Amino acid sequence: MTREYLKKAPKHAKSDASEVHETVVNILNDIEAGGDAKALEYAKKFDKYEGNVLLTPEEIEAAIALVPEKLKQDIQFSHDNVKRFAEKQKSTVADVEMEMSPGFIAGQKAIPVDAAGCYVPGGRYSHIASAIMTVTTAKVAGCRHITACSPPRPGEGVNPAIVYAAHICGADKIMAMGGVQGVAAMTFGLFGLPPANILVGPGNQFVAEAKRILFGRVGIDMIAGPTDSLILADKTADPHIVATDLVSQAEHGYNSPVWLVTDDRALAEKVMELVPGLIDDLPELNSQNAAAAWRDYAEVILCANREEMAACSDDYAPEHLTVQAEDLDWWLDRLTCYGSLFLGEETTVSYGDKAAGTNHVLPTSRAASYTGGLSVHKYMKIVTWQRTTREASKDVAIATARISRLEGMEGHARAADVRLAKYFPGENFD
Ligand code: NAD
Repeated sequence: MTREYLKKAPKHAKSDASEVHETVVNILNDIEAGGDAKALEYAKKFDKYEGNVLLTPEEIEAAIALVPEKLKQDIQFSHDNVKRFAEKQKSTVADVEMEMSPGFIAGQKAIPVDAAGCYVPGGRYSHIASAIMTVTTAKVAGCRHITACSPPRPGEGVNPAIVYAAHICGADKIMAMGGVQGVAAMTFGLFGLPPANILVGPGNQFVAEAKRILFGRVGIDMIAGPTDSLILADKTADPHIVATDLVSQAEHGYNSPVWLVTDDRALAEKVMELVPGLIDDLPELNSQNAAAAWRDYAEVILCANREEMAACSDDYAPEHLTVQAEDLDWWLDRLTCYGSLFLGEETTVSYGDKAAGTNHVLPTSRAASYTGGLSVHKYMKIVTWQRTTREASKDVAIATARISRLEGMEGHARAADVRLAKYFPGENFD
C-alpha cells in the first residue's frame, strides 16, 4: 500500500497523564469526603464562582428571558431533530420473548437508567449543542432524573442559551458547576441531586479523567479526547469547500487533528494552499486554535486509488468522516470505522455538530474502531429474564446439576437437585 504524506504531523511525545490523574483523584476524594462545601470551594478556585449552584425556577426563567428569539427557534429546531432521530433509534430496541423449549421462556427487556448526569462543556466555547445532544437523548430513552451541569462563567453563571437548551430538552435540574466538581456532584448526589447512574457528555482532560476514574461506580458514555476529523476527497471535490471544512474542525482546539486523504495530488496541493488564509480569516482565538492544530496535528495523505483511501480512513478511525467524492453509495458500503459519516459536499460536520439530528458526542482517538457515539442505547440496560413450568425445567435442571458438579460447584448442583426431587419424586437423575 502506497501512502505519500504531503503533510505529516510531527511525532508528539506521549503526554504525561499522571499529573492530571493525580489532580483529579485528589479533587474527587476531597469532594467525596467534604460534600457540598468542598465542591463549592473548587468552583470558587477554578471558575471564580460563588453563586447559586442548583438553578431555581426563577433563575431559569430569568436566563431564558435573555436568549434572543431567533436563537430560541434554532435551539428548538435542533432539539426537534435530535429528538426525532433518538425516537427512531429507540424503536429499534425491542423487548424479546422466546420459548427455548415448550414451557421454558427466556426474554430480554430494555430498561432506561434512572438518573443521567449530562456534562455540558463551557470552558473554551459555550457548547449549547452538547446540552441538546445529551439531555434530549436521555429524555427520549426514558431516564426519570436528568441533571445538566455546565461551568459557570466567572461571576455570571451558566450561559443563558445553555440553560434554555437544557430546560426545553427536558433537564429536571440545571447545575452551575464545571469540571471535576460538576462530575463529582452528579455522581455523589450532592446539592440534593439523585446520584447519577450514568455520566455523559464531552469535556476537557479533567472531565474525561474524572469519568474514567468513576467508571464502574457509575456508567459512562465514553472517554472523549480531542475532537478529530478526516475528509476523503477525489478529483471531483471543491478544494475551497474541503479547505473550509478542515479549518472548521481544526478550530475545536490546538490539538484537534484534521486529516485529508485523497487520490488527487492537484486537489491536495490546492487545499494546502488555501488553508492558511482561511485560518487567518477566523476570529483571533479560533484562528490560534486552528493554526496550532493545522501546524502540529494535521496530515494530508495521497493514496493510489479509492480502495486505499478507504483502508487509510479505517486505520485512522476518525470521530467525524466526510466523503466528497463520486459514488457515495460505494463509500457508505465500504467504510467501517467512524463516529459519524457525512456523505457528499452538500452536508458537513457542522450540521451534525449542531442541528441535523444525529448525535455529536462521538468516539475520538481511534475509539471508532470499537464503538459508536452517544445514542438512546447508551442510556438503556438490556437485561434478560426467564420463567418455566415445572415440566419444562427438568432437562435444564439435569444439565445444570451435572455441569455444576464437574465445576466443583456443589451448591449450584443442589439448587437443581432440590427442584428435581420436589417436582419429579421417585425419579432417578444420576
Ligand atoms: P470544560 O467544561 O470541559 O472544562 C472547564 C472546566 O475545567 C472548568 O469548569 C474547571 O473547573 C476545569 N478546570 C480548568 N482548569 C483546571 C485545572 N487546572 N485543574 C482542574 N480543573 C480545571 O470546557 P473546555 O475546557 O472548554 O473543554 C471542552 C472540551 O470538550 C474540548 O476539548 C472540546 O473539544 C470537547 N468537545 C467535544 C465534543 C465531542 O463530541 N467530542 C463536543 C463538544 C466539545
